[in-house]
Amino acid sequence: MGHKPLVAITGASSGIGEATARAFSEAGHPVLLMARRMDRMEALGLPNAVLRQVDVRDRDAIAAAVRDAEAEFGPVDMMFANAGIARLADIGRQPPEEWDEMIDINTKGVMNTVHAVMKGMMDRRHGTLVMMSSIAGRKVYPDHTVYCGTKYFVHAVSESLREYLSAYDVRVVVLSPGVIETEVLSGVLDEETLENYKSNKVKMGGGIGADIVADLILNAYQLPQKALVQEICLTPTRQT
Ligand code: NDP
Repeated sequence: MGHKPLVAITGASSGIGEATARAFSEAGHPVLLMARRMDRMEALGLPNAVLRQVDVRDRDAIAAAVRDAEAEFGPVDMMFANAGIARLADIGRQPPEEWDEMIDINTKGVMNTVHAVMKGMMDRRHGTLVMMSSIAGRKVYPDHTVYCGTKYFVHAVSESLREYLSAYDVRVVVLSPGVIETEVLSGVLDEETLENYKSNKVKMGGGIGADIVADLILNAYQLPQKALVQEICLTPTRQT
């Protein structure tokens, strides 16, 4: 008794997920952290944390992690469907296996994540889904073809979910960041695309910190349940 509602985050082992885990934990929330790298989640050393080695492609694993954490800390009131990879590449030479992986993680993985908590939120008529899209879910780039496809998918699903879930008082926030300093570029296997991305980043004066994204998510979550920030589109000032 006495603790704040449980918050769940996929992709909590690095970058934006990790920063968001820290922000909600500092605000007093118990957290369910899910990712494949357990050591990285353990290293965070957060109190009241349930850590689960989960691949978001495994629907049952997410559901089991949610069940375990809810047994300890009560219902998940915020789910951040954040896990994703960016296999950016020239589509003309990208191996199809890279599309498969990106589509499975960024689209089906997001649906698996939502599925694990949506019914509970509807029953309670309370909850917040934060959906990780990207600026690449609002505009396209020539060497982001399938990545853009996955993020447009998240955008469309989020908007449809928002319409569907509004009647249940469940909030859906879609997040569309530009360049944020994280480990996301480790997913880019195409050298030329990676070099182009890095030189564009230098031109825009670098990316911005994941802690800024985390603070915005926390601020949106902390508004009264009847108030919804529908979309957070945060980019470096020089990113066009
Ligand atoms: P990171 O690479 O630092 O973080 C990605 C996270 O996703 C890691 O915790 C990783 O954990 C997790 N992840 C990847 N695949 C899986 C999987 N199959 N199952 C479970 N977890 C998985 O990059 P970011 O923090 O930048 O990325 C987070 C999200 O933000 C992504 O969806 C990305 O597309 C999006 N984004 C990032 C932007 C940026 O500029 N950084 C801009 C716009 C959107 P592990 O490997 O341990 O499983």
